[in-house]
Amino acid sequence: MTTHTVLNPATAQPVTEVPLASAEETDVLIERAAEAFPAWRDVAPGERARLLRAFAAVVDAHVEELAELEVRNAGHTLGNARWEAGNVRDCLNYYSASPERLFGRQIPVPGGVDITFREPLGVVGVIVPWNFPMPIAGWGFAPALAAGNTVVLKPAELTPLTAIRIGELAVEAGLPEGVFTVIPGKGSVVGQRFVEHPAVRKICFTGSTEVGKQIMAGCAEQVKRVTLELGGKSANIVFADADIARAAATAPYAVFDNAGQDCCARSRILVERSAYDEFLGRLESAVKGMRVTDPGSDPDSEMGPLISAQQKATVTGYLDDVEVAFSGPAPDLDGFWVPPTVVLSDDPAERIWRAEVFGPVVAVMPFDDEAEAVRLANDTEYGLSGSIFTRDVGKALRVARGVETGNLSVNSHAAVRYWTPFGGFKQSGLGRELGPDAPNAFTEEKNVFIASD
Ligand code: NDP
Repeated sequence: MTTHTVLNPATAQPVTEVPLASAEETDVLIERAAEAFPAWRDVAPGERARLLRAFAAVVDAHVEELAELEVRNAGHTLGNARWEAGNVRDCLNYYSASPERLFGRQIPVPGGVDITFREPLGVVGVIVPWNFPMPIAGWGFAPALAAGNTVVLKPAELTPLTAIRIGELAVEAGLPEGVFTVIPGKGSVVGQRFVEHPAVRKICFTGSTEVGKQIMAGCAEQVKRVTLELGGKSANIVFADADIARAAATAPYAVFDNAGQDCCARSRILVERSAYDEFLGRLESAVKGMRVTDPGSDPDSEMGPLISAQQKATVTGYLDDVEVAFSGPAPDLDGFWVPPTVVLSDDPAERIWRAEVFGPVVAVMPFDDEAEAVRLANDTEYGLSGSIFTRDVGKALRVARGVETGNLSVNSHAAVRYWTPFGGFKQSGLGRELGPDAPNAFTEEKNVFIASD
């Protein structure tokens, strides 16, 4: 049996060994999920709701344990990890209201009545990356289960521990066997089988744009449903009329949270030229004041390590051809540490301005007017997130409508909320997750005409 050695990224020390499923084992578990589907589909809506609430309650009772696991496995700060485990609970509670609200429609037609039903798909395959193992899993499995599907979930090879535990908690909460199955393994094996196995009727993928494209192409073979949440290179646009102190004090957390390993990271900062010097001065103090420490020994750590030696090499590789303006601290430990780093950019063609670095590196560029800010913000293949800082509400609205991105915050860097839709424009993704309509994305709409004559 092949195994993966999970490392603590803060120290590079081994945590545990996790067995990796083979293609054959994956097929067996997918087929079990397919067998469990008809009974789960037929569970009365109120009972399915009760089971999801019970699942949420069991997760709630284990928030601290899950958070500690994530600190060790992913190097997340304790505050973030607690929020992430709580987010799984909240997401389950939110979607526990859905089974009783999967409404169809009644459409006027002559000679009878036309009604629609929301039918679950069958087995849904959720493929999760390593950057936010718990919330990203929950955003897929909670609405999928609520809609009456069974779920197979593949955590990232690097970060399987919380998903494995959440799978056990589902059984403890009373979910029937085969309804929710966590399958640790390699993307090229387990993930690939999700795409190829005909019993899997939808893939809900979060990860790199490159793998997302491969999955979309693979799904085309069976016209398999697919939702893709992919990369980003989001802009934080700061106008001169904004509260510059607030914009500069919050900007580091909008990009260096989770050590920059965040698809919504505001990794390009655009600052109106007349406020540029003031903003940079304040940004420098904020970045140098960040608390970058081992989250395993400092519960107040604000930024931890990168996930792996490979990710560290990728991120530092982007710094080879640029001049660093200033950086924050990083501890002298054996783990995968990169300090929060600020680069000044004056050419939108530069690699550092265009590529999704997925690490604690931000590029700052001045702009002269509103039109230029929107043009520069949109000059990217991505379109996931972004922020706008201004005191002019009209300008905020104009710019918000002009920026081609799925999720924007004004005078804030608000993160993803489970009760509002989330998804990307352009190469940042396909489809929407979360929000009140999310369970519909895990159904087909069936149209039934009943003749009255
Ligand atoms: P990937 O896209 O490779 O991984 C995401 C998930 O997909 C993992 O569970 C992975 O499994 C799985 N996977 C990989 N290949 C396949 C495949 N052929 N079929 C099915 N599933 C597959 O991201 P990486 O972890 O390699 O990160 C690389 C870069 O991607 C980062 O540097 C960052 O730029 C970006 N990224 C973006 C994320 C986002 O939230 N938008 C999240 C993570 C990464 P396994 O773990 O075994 O590789």
